[in-house]
Amino acid sequence: MKIYINRLEEGLNELTHDYEAESLDLISLVDREVRFNDPVHVQVNINKVHSQYFFQIFVETSAIFVCDRCLEDFEMSIRDNFRVVYSTEKSYLDEQNDDLGIRYLHSESDVVDLSEDVRESVLLAIPMKVLCSGDCKGICPECGANLNKGSCIHQQQRMDPKWEALKGLSDKHKKNN
Ligand SMILES: [Zn+2]
Ligand SMILES: [Zn+2]
Repeated sequence: MKIYINRLEEGLNELTHDYEAESLDLISLVDREVRFNDPVHVQVNINKVHSQYFFQIFVETSAIFVCDRCLEDFEMSIRDNFRVVYSTEKSYLDEQNDDLGIRYLHSESDVVDLSEDVRESVLLAIPMKVLCSGDCKGICPECGANLNKGSCIHQQQRMDPKWEALKGLSDKHKKNN
């Protein structure tokens, strides 16, 4: 998404753009299995105040992930927003302002490209652990059954105190032999 700042009006400017996931290289950069069915919607609100441009950027998309716990595919929405300030006045560019995220533009003929920021924003919005739901029950370590869909024989045995008692007996039996 390229923004020609000389076309912006003083005050609030609202722009939108849709990125295809491929154009942002998201599939190769996301370090896990993922399918992007939706484009990445970007809404950019820019408040131009003389030589300064206050950007507020909203990023939204959704993708198919594989749950880390039950290994099922599920759709997860990804949302993020961030702010950036651009300035055409060089005096604003110093060490301190670098911390505030102020970026320098050489002249009003400059073009701002937000692709890199949008890509980073999507990548950071994907959690380290991806779960289909907070209380996903996962799979049975013995038979691999998805426990969200129901219990398997191993889980029933685990729940049933009679089985625990029997298991205790058989363990004792093993030890004695
Ligand atoms: Zn799950
Ligand atoms: Zn099982």
